[in-house]
Amino acid sequence: MTAAPGAAGAAVDGMPAAIAALRANGLRVSSARRIVLEALFAAAGPATAEELAAGPGLIPRSDLASTYRNLETLEAIGLVRHLHFGQGAGRYVLRRGEESGYVSCRHCGAYEPMGAATVAALSDTVRDSTGYDAAFASFSVIGLCAACRADDA
Ligand SMILES: [Zn+2]
Repeated sequence: MTAAPGAAGAAVDGMPAAIAALRANGLRVSSARRIVLEALFAAAGPATAEELAAGPGLIPRSDLASTYRNLETLEAIGLVRHLHFGQGAGRYVLRRGEESGYVSCRHCGAYEPMGAATVAALSDTVRDSTGYDAAFASFSVIGLCAACRADDA
């Protein structure tokens, strides 16, 4: 885990809560940080830094390095988590209470949240058969989506 101590449970449900969390961690609410947060709230799901930086005209593309730095800062204080969906760039998503696991397609890169009940059932199965407490928060389960399976058939 890369989250800072005490970061767990720092779920945010809107910009005011996110800004309060920055201040509570002694961080300046710079316009760059505010813009990255707005892009995260506007994103439909876990987004790459490039997608966030390219957001609806919010950030000039030249600010990709600063987007990465700000995402790292937000991750360090537990506002954002970083996901790996097989190959391709990592994706970032706001922590919003319930932590969803994801399944992603190794062929086309599509992904879907698995939902808490599915993740709990998977965790129980893995624990029962191996004794390991499996975590699905940072890495997706990788497979082949229905559309790619249909193309294969
Ligand atoms: Zn696919």
